[in-house]
Amino acid sequence: MANKEELNPFKIAQSQLDECAEKLGLDEATHELLRWPMREVVVSLPVKMDDGTTKVFKAFRVQYNGARGPTKGGIRWHPDETVDTVRALSAWMTWKTAVVDIPLGGSKGGIICNPKEMSDGEKERLARAYMRAIAGIVGVTQDVPAPDVYTTPQIMAWMMDEYEAIRREHHPGVITGKPLSVGGSQGRHDATARGGVYCVREAAKRLNINVSNASYAIQGFGNAGQYAATLTKEILGTGRLVAVSDSRGGVYNPDGIEPLDMVKWKLQNRRVAGFPGTKEITNAELLELDVDILYPAALENVITRDNAENIKARIVCELANGPTTPEADEILHKNGVHIIPDFLANAGGVTVSYFEQVQNTYNYYWPIEEVYEKLDQKMSTAYNSVYEMHKKQNVHMRLAAYMIAVSRVAEACKLRGWV
Ligand code: NAD
Repeated sequence: MANKEELNPFKIAQSQLDECAEKLGLDEATHELLRWPMREVVVSLPVKMDDGTTKVFKAFRVQYNGARGPTKGGIRWHPDETVDTVRALSAWMTWKTAVVDIPLGGSKGGIICNPKEMSDGEKERLARAYMRAIAGIVGVTQDVPAPDVYTTPQIMAWMMDEYEAIRREHHPGVITGKPLSVGGSQGRHDATARGGVYCVREAAKRLNINVSNASYAIQGFGNAGQYAATLTKEILGTGRLVAVSDSRGGVYNPDGIEPLDMVKWKLQNRRVAGFPGTKEITNAELLELDVDILYPAALENVITRDNAENIKARIVCELANGPTTPEADEILHKNGVHIIPDFLANAGGVTVSYFEQVQNTYNYYWPIEEVYEKLDQKMSTAYNSVYEMHKKQNVHMRLAAYMIAVSRVAEACKLRGWV
C-alpha cells in the first residue's frame, strides 16, 4: 500500500519550504532558521465562568520570523486548536507578508476553547486574560494580532482596551481588524476575498481566459466565500456562480445562482441547502465540477492525491489556508490547473490590516476608494511577479510564490547578520 499522505499542517509547511530551499540553493543555516518559529509562547489562562467555576484555557502565540518587520498574525479560537496548526499558520503569515511585500513578519495565535458555548462575558474575560499574558511580546514595534477563526472585531476591541490599560496610553495599532469606531480600517471586512478576486482577474488576463460569463464554484460559504461570490461578479463585471457549499452540504445550478440572494438565504436559513432552483451536491462533487474558477474557502487538505486528478477548474483560487497537499500540487501542475496559492490568494486581509496599522500610526484615516486602490496595486503586483517566476523557472505557482517570499526573508536575515 502507498505511504499515508502527510496531513500535519506544520510538516506540510516545512516540506514546502524544503522544496523551495533546494530550488533556491539556500545555505544550510538559513534553511534551518526558516524551518522553525523563532519564538513560541504557551500560556494557561484561568478564567471565571458565569456559573462561578474557574476554567483554565491553554493558549499559544507563535512568532515565526520578524526579519522584515514586526510580526503579524491572527488569533484563532477553536476547540481543536493545536500548536502545530498555529506554527504552520505563522510560517504561512511570514511568506504571505513577504510575497505581497509589506514590511512585516509572520506570527499566529490560538486559544483552545469553544466560543459557541461561551457567553459574551466569558469571551471578554478570556480575551483580556490572553492579552495580559502576551502584552510583553506584542505591540506596534513587536507583534500585531488580528481576527481569525471564531474571533471578531469586538474581541479585538477588548484586547486593544486591555493592552492600553496596561500601557496607560493609546495604542490602537497593537491589534487590527477592530471596529471602525475604535480605529479599524474601511474595507477590512471583504479584503481577503477582494484580494483573491483581484488575483483571479490578473490570472484570467495572463491565461487568456474569457471571463465573460465565466463559471465559478465556492467551497465554504462563510466570510471569505460569501464575499468571493459577490465580488467575482462585481470585479470581473461578469460571471456565473454555479455551486456553493458549507459544512451541511452544497447546491448546484449550471444556469447560475444570484450571489446576493444566496447570501441572504444563508443568513436566514443558516445553510446553503434548499436554495430554490438548485439541486444538492456533496462537497466532494463541488470540487470536481467543470468550472472556470474554483474557490476553496473552507478548510485545509480538501484537494489531495485522491481527488487531484479529477479537478477540472482552470483556476483554483485558494482563499482557505492549506487546501491543497504537496502531492496534489504536483498533479494539478501536470494537468495544467492554474493555482493561486493560499498565501498569495488570501493576502488581501493582512494587506488591509497593514493599512489599518499605518492609519493608526498616522491617526488619519483613508476613504474606502483609497483602500481598494492600494489593495489592488499590492495584489496585482504580487500576482504578476509570482506568475513571471512560475513561467521563468517552470515551477508550479506555489513554489514560485515560495521562491519570491523566502528569498526576501532570507535576504533580510542575511543583512541583519543572523546567518
Ligand atoms: P468562516 O468560519 O466564516 O467560514 C467557513 C465556511 O466553511 C462556513 O460556511 C462553514 O460552514 C464552511 N465549512 C466548514 N466545514 C466545511 C466542510 N467540511 N465543507 C464545506 N464547507 C465547510 O471562515 P472564513 O473566515 O471564511 O475562513 C475560511 C478559510 O479562509 C479558512 O481557511 C481561513 O483560514 C481562510 N482565511 C480567511 C481570512 C479572512 O479574512 N476571513 C483570511 C485569510 C484566510
